[in-house]
Formats: sequence, C-alpha cells, structure tokens
Amino acid sequence: MSLLSPSRKRSSSSSQVDRVEAFARTIPTDEPESDGTLEWDSTTIVVVRVFAGDAVGLGYTYTHDAAVRLIEDKLAPAVRGVDVETDLSHAWHELGHLLRNVGRPGMGFMALSAVDIALWDLRARLLGQPLVDVLGGVRDEAAVYGSGGFTSYSLERIAEQLGGWVAQGIPRVKMKVGRSPDDDPARVDAARVAIGDTTELYVDANGAFDRDEAVHWANRYANDWGVTWFEEPVSSADADGLRHVREHSPPQLQVAAGEYAYVPADFLNLLRANAVDCLQIDVTRCGGYTGFLNAAGLAEQFGLQISAHCAPQASTHICCAVPHFRHIEYFHDHVRVERELFDGVLEPQGGALRPDRSRAGHGLELKA
Ligand SMILES: [Mg+2]
Repeated sequence: MSLLSPSRKRSSSSSQVDRVEAFARTIPTDEPESDGTLEWDSTTIVVVRVFAGDAVGLGYTYTHDAAVRLIEDKLAPAVRGVDVETDLSHAWHELGHLLRNVGRPGMGFMALSAVDIALWDLRARLLGQPLVDVLGGVRDEAAVYGSGGFTSYSLERIAEQLGGWVAQGIPRVKMKVGRSPDDDPARVDAARVAIGDTTELYVDANGAFDRDEAVHWANRYANDWGVTWFEEPVSSADADGLRHVREHSPPQLQVAAGEYAYVPADFLNLLRANAVDCLQIDVTRCGGYTGFLNAAGLAEQFGLQISAHCAPQASTHICCAVPHFRHIEYFHDHVRVERELFDGVLEPQGGALRPDRSRAGHGLELKA
C-alpha cells in the first residue's frame, strides 16, 4: 500500500524509497548512571536506513528495541514509495496518522523520528548537499553544553567530567540533581570549584521535586552557586508546576523542559502554560527534522529560544537552521554511542559543533 493517493502517485523515480531497514544496538554505559528519578547501565539506539537504489539515508532514536518491530511492521510499508524530493511533509503526516491507534506520543513518535531523520538525510544526499543547506542554514555552527554529572558519580568524577568539558572550550555544563537532595550541595560545590566562576552551571532534576521543594532548591542553586538553568524541577507533566517554579525563582535562573514532548500538542501545552523560559526539543522524539521545525516554529510564536535535547550528532545541522536557537545538549551517553556507531561524528571546537559541509546529508555513516 502506498502512502500516496492515486492522484499523487508517481511513476518510480530515483528519489523514491525502495527499501527500509531497522535495527537496535544496546551499548553499556562506562559506569552505572542515575539521575533524580532513574537508574541505568546501558543505552539502546534504534537505527533506520532508507534506500533509494544505491543511495541511503540514516536516522536513529533512543528507545526500546521494540521500536524496530514497530518500524518494520507499521511504518516501513508506507515509507516504501515515498519520493524524498517531493513527499516529506506528506509522509510525516501520513506516518503519524498510521500511528493513531498504536500511540503517537512516546515510542510511536520515536519510531517516526528515526524514519523522518533518515528521509531528510536521503533527500540531502540525493541533492549532494549538506543537510544544513537543504534545511536553510542561518549559522555555521551550533553552541553546545556538556551534559552528564550523574547522581551515581563520585565528587572526583563530577569534577573530572565537567572540568574536562571546560578544558575542551565548552563554557556551559549541566549536572543531575535531586536523587538525594541533602548530598547535592557537596556535589554542586565540587562542580563549581572544578569549572570556575565564569562557566555557566546548569542543573537537571528530571522531575524529582514537588513544587515547594523545587522552589526552595531553585533559590539555593541560583543564589549559592550561580546556577542559571534548572531543568525539569518538577515533572514536565505538571506544566502549571513548572510555571509556579518560574514565578518563584530568581530572575537569573531559567526553567527548561520539553524532552518528553512528542507531538506538536505536547509543545503547545508547555508553551500555553508559560511553563518554560527555553523550550527543549529532542529531534529523536518530536518527529525528526519535520517535527523539530514545527516545534521550533511554535516556540518562536511565544518569543522563546529552543535548546536541542540529546542526540548531538543528529541535532547539529537542524540547529544551524533555526534562528532562535540557544544550544545543543552534548550528552555524555549519546556522545559515546554515536562515536561508537557512526563515522563522520563532529567534535566540539570552541564550544560548538560545526557541520562538515564537505559531506552530504547530516554526514553520518554507519561504521562497517
Ligand atoms: Mg533532562
């Protein structure tokens, strides 16, 4: 069955997808990791490849390997036949429609994200252009912040990791808080000492606090350690709670969330509630590049900047194409996984990732 209605059905062309492949790979972390609300010791990446003859587009998401079956059974039959030169927006809506009764927010949109990233990559490769130019670039490089500082880390490891990013020229770093709040002052102290006074320090509670606790810690973080970014101080399901924390925090501390927004309505709910100072968007969850542009457009209407959550290698080109962009999360786990799986991985220079314009697409290739 083709996606396309009979009137739009084209004869076979060289830009039409003729094959879809998906697989999962689970990669152990380099040591046990935890944040305010979760513990883990591995990361699973689901990779999608779409083919048009000899040309191949690559996409991925981070989720359970059950997404492979979802892609193969539900999405791939409709992706075959999509013409990436002309049909990407149509395909995005149709694939979303196919997921209606499976569940769009959550794994459904993660699977769709991986497919959409692969389709855009294939389109750019067939055009022989870097993805940033196909999307319409507005900058040559995208700022990053180092992200890790897990609650499972020793003080020495926190200092080594965060200080390492600063030594690499990254002037912004983020650490996890909220698992055992009484331990956090010593942890944040160690971080501040390691990174010096001029580095921006961010914290992420992953929704560990209730509203009153979050307000208490927001004021302490801002006043005692100069923290300027408090991510998910309460659950991002509590949009009114996020706004409450914003309204009761020092003005120099910004509240951020959005990593668990999947469909456009999820982003709109956060924006309408005035829940965030900066909207986070995860390209591997929000519906890929098509969904990212959609969510970024919504943020722009609310006068907000956006920040890319995780998956730094998939995020760089699109973040060079969004005007009101702030930074990409250079997340320790995903940096490791993407280095292990892909050739063409970008390394930060001067605190930013710069698309390699000598490569077509997003520039990533699956290692042999
Ligand atoms: Mg987070």
